[in-house]
Amino acid sequence: MRRLRIGVSACLFHADRGRPVFNGKPLYYLERSMARWVGSQGALVYLVPDAAEADGITVMDVAEDLDGLVLAGGVDVCPRTYGEEPTRPEWSGDAVRDAYEIALLRAMVDADKPVLGICRGHQVLNVAFGGTLHQDILEEVPGARVHRDAVVYDQLSHEIRIEPGSWLARLHPGRETITVNSVHHQAIDRLAEGAVVAARSTEDLVIEAIEIRGPRWARGVQWHPEFAYPGDGRLIDDAPMLTEFLQAAEARRRS
Ligand code: MN
Repeated sequence: MRRLRIGVSACLFHADRGRPVFNGKPLYYLERSMARWVGSQGALVYLVPDAAEADGITVMDVAEDLDGLVLAGGVDVCPRTYGEEPTRPEWSGDAVRDAYEIALLRAMVDADKPVLGICRGHQVLNVAFGGTLHQDILEEVPGARVHRDAVVYDQLSHEIRIEPGSWLARLHPGRETITVNSVHHQAIDRLAEGAVVAARSTEDLVIEAIEIRGPRWARGVQWHPEFAYPGDGRLIDDAPMLTEFLQAAEARRRS
């Protein structure tokens, strides 16, 4: 039996003459921890470049060959992607990556393949379906806790409250609250039409997990499952989330 093929969206290093690595040429990259987590239950993991339209290869060709897609974390979403101007230059994000990921995710959804958004990917999912983001949580959410600390990075964590009846509640029966890591300064503001909240940060109600309702399988989490360490009992166990994602991919492959 062939193994599932799961694509992971690429982080982009744009051309930069000042960067010595590869003489400043444009690069795709992927954190190893992400590849290892996505592949931790036996799926094959592939970094997905943008479709080479000039060579006649469309994003639909890519989607048809994959069984599922993980939208990886990384740089900020550009506010212009959801119709706003950046309120600070440093919050301009990467519109090129937004367009690449949204085209890929639309093709996957059209092909009825499951999509799992991680951190930035969870935000991209909301934006692709018509929602908006907070450009900076501390600036836009009064009384918000710190969701990103550059020094402790993935060691920062906080509690979330799981919405009763949500997919997360099903995966973690009997758990109302659970602890997740937190490495983000943007967050969902206006929820996309058709999206439902699966979890919020307990102190400030920042949205931490969503699901796109309907026949398609599309979910997002604001935390980083790939940064959780096996046996760290403090944090949420994300293995059940990956299992459900892969089962959805498997079920669609067989149908
Ligand atoms: Mn958080």
